[in-house]
Amino acid sequence: MQKKYIPLLIFFTALLAFAVHLGARLTAEVPAFSLADEEKRIYLTFDDGPSTVVTNRVLDILREEGVQATFFIVSDRVAGREETLRRIVREGHTVGVHSKTHRYGEIYASDEALLGDVRACAETVEQITGAKPRFYRFPYGGGTARQRDLLEAQGYTVIGWNAVCGDTDLSLGAEALVKESLKTAGTRGNVVLLLHDGAPHKATAEALPAIISAFRARGYAFCAFR
Ligand SMILES: [Zn+2]
Repeated sequence: MQKKYIPLLIFFTALLAFAVHLGARLTAEVPAFSLADEEKRIYLTFDDGPSTVVTNRVLDILREEGVQATFFIVSDRVAGREETLRRIVREGHTVGVHSKTHRYGEIYASDEALLGDVRACAETVEQITGAKPRFYRFPYGGGTARQRDLLEAQGYTVIGWNAVCGDTDLSLGAEALVKESLKTAGTRGNVVLLLHDGAPHKATAEALPAIISAFRARGYAFCAFR
């Protein structure tokens, strides 16, 4: 090679190196996008149970559909429904801690009150199901960053949500709940959907088969927190 071509060679080598670098970055990013499409996941989460009718209806539907979910329970509502709580675990779902009392003023009165509420709920779950709960959801969507740290220091993973079915509005019928679930989930690859299985939420159970089939049709896999 003639000497005069050497700068040109260096230039093209540098250009090639840059292109490889750029290419590597692009290929590192591309699978992330396509995987997000392939691995769309939805976590159905039910708060405020157990209740006699709604929780059992929800469990029937989940069993029929072969879907696993997560239940954040209120332990003061367990008495007389121990079998329902055991059924949740027996059928492969996850039980998380929501609260003992679900009374805002008491839970958030102090750090000690919060931790006491969580501990009491967790003890009930463990006594009845034999499973020690590892997931926690703040009642009323509350919880400061500091309270979250407090819970995580106790070994809990704190679970929020990024989509709702809208069932806190008890005037909404099943069809509206399905619509709201899809609308609030948008195009997210990972959806954590907030639903309720307390006694007043019959419309949620009624909407559940359509919610499951709508997300299934959009390519979502159903997961419980593990
Ligand atoms: Zn709640």
